[in-house]
Amino acid sequence: RRAEAQAVKNDPAVTKDGVRVRAAANLASLEEVAAVAQSGAEEVGLLRTEFLFMRREAAPSEDEQYDIYRQMVEGLNGGALTVRTVDIGGDKPVAYMDRPEEENPNLGWRGIRYSLAEPDLFETQLAAILRASAHGPVRIMFPLVSTLEEVTAGKVAVRKVMDVLKERGQAFDETIEVGIMIEVPAAAERASLLASHVDFFSIGTNDLTQYVMASDRANPKVQKLCDPFDPAVLSMIAKSIAAAHEAGIWIGMCGAMAGDPLAVPILLGFGLDEFSMAAADVAEFKLTLKGLSRADCEALAKKALEQESAAAVREMVAAG
Ligand code: PEP
Ligand code: MG
Repeated sequence: RRAEAQAVKNDPAVTKDGVRVRAAANLASLEEVAAVAQSGAEEVGLLRTEFLFMRREAAPSEDEQYDIYRQMVEGLNGGALTVRTVDIGGDKPVAYMDRPEEENPNLGWRGIRYSLAEPDLFETQLAAILRASAHGPVRIMFPLVSTLEEVTAGKVAVRKVMDVLKERGQAFDETIEVGIMIEVPAAAERASLLASHVDFFSIGTNDLTQYVMASDRANPKVQKLCDPFDPAVLSMIAKSIAAAHEAGIWIGMCGAMAGDPLAVPILLGFGLDEFSMAAADVAEFKLTLKGLSRADCEALAKKALEQESAAAVREMVAAG
């Protein structure tokens, strides 16, 4: 099966009934760019920028970040780089940032909440991302969005930084896409509203599952409960995809579920446009896709929503 997957890794990501989706990879460091470029992925659906901020003495400067984002996009053979603004906090603490101890870090001051409260940090990162967009296709994505207010504030910051760059005479893509992660239940619930304010969505199933199921994604005691195949989570995913399409925007997934061969038929059936996963999983994903038809998957996805449990969904999909 491995050799079979390797043989199709440079084919387009297409089902046996000719439905084309996008196969993308997640990226977390400059060192991984070569592996992504050779994986068969068309682009990067998620760059986790946390790595840039961790294990060092101070936050990286604008030039330092620009340099890294630029090298990344230049290494992708024309594929887009979706840069997620930093998701500090939660399970990703950073020593030099003077942050209070939190009793519930996953419900605390992380993601876009933190960026909006630290405009210097946020605008510095936005400037670096925008400048990189002069060298290839780049997108901006905000993590952990809960409300429209956060989206609006994030976009205001992007506009402000664009004006600064213009004043400085620095080039950037004026039509850069700005999107958000769907990983908080409130955002999934309000996906129709949010969709009319952004260019794309990307579902973060790691956090979405932890919040829908109220089960810590890192706590082994509740791992069984923290299952994205639970129909409660699937329902949020289906709703987000439908809302995106009604509003005329595309929607991807960059949580671990996107790279799970058992999840692919359901997600395809819901109509997901982009699957972003570990580079090592892209070839296998394309092979899985070749064996599926969208029409069959649509029926399967509908049935999945009616199951009593995650276990029942898994059994149903495994049975084909
Ligand atoms: C997610 O939550 O699914 C996600 C992709 O983001 P992270 O794992 O970095 O929180
Ligand atoms: Mg997340």
